[in-house]
Amino acid sequence: MKRMWAPWRMEYIKGEKTSGCIFCSALKAYKDKENLILLRGKHSSVMLNKYPYSNGHIMVFPHEHVADIALLDTKGLVDTFSTLRDSVALLKKAISPEGFNIGINMGKCAGAGIKDHIHIHVVPRWEGDTNFMPLIGEVKLINEHLSSTYEHLSHFFIE
Ligand SMILES: [Zn+2]
Repeated sequence: MKRMWAPWRMEYIKGEKTSGCIFCSALKAYKDKENLILLRGKHSSVMLNKYPYSNGHIMVFPHEHVADIALLDTKGLVDTFSTLRDSVALLKKAISPEGFNIGINMGKCAGAGIKDHIHIHVVPRWEGDTNFMPLIGEVKLINEHLSSTYEHLSHFFIE
């Protein structure tokens, strides 16, 4: 995947790591807007990435807290992939990407930011989008950008 310029990622890299699992605590909290949860499924859900690589960067995760895809039960696996399929379809409708990077980083050495709870990254892509991020510009604007993205996507994801 081509590197994108996303300066707010530095905040994430340098920022304090919160204890506990962001996916499990978001599921328990029922503050979906605050936690950027776009969809709650039966065995899997969708969260907008707080530190996006592109506009509409989401994460699809099983509800089961496992670090390794080999440990995921079949029910969770099937539901996660079905949510992944639906999410890609919804993103297409919502923001018309020209392509996607879809993938799992398993383990710290593989670049997993949240290494204890498996999740699938869905990064919408557009031709020439390596220069997309400067349009947003400053790091402090990312929160504003995130809430408007959440607002827009929620019309598609949340029934
Ligand atoms: Zn978890």
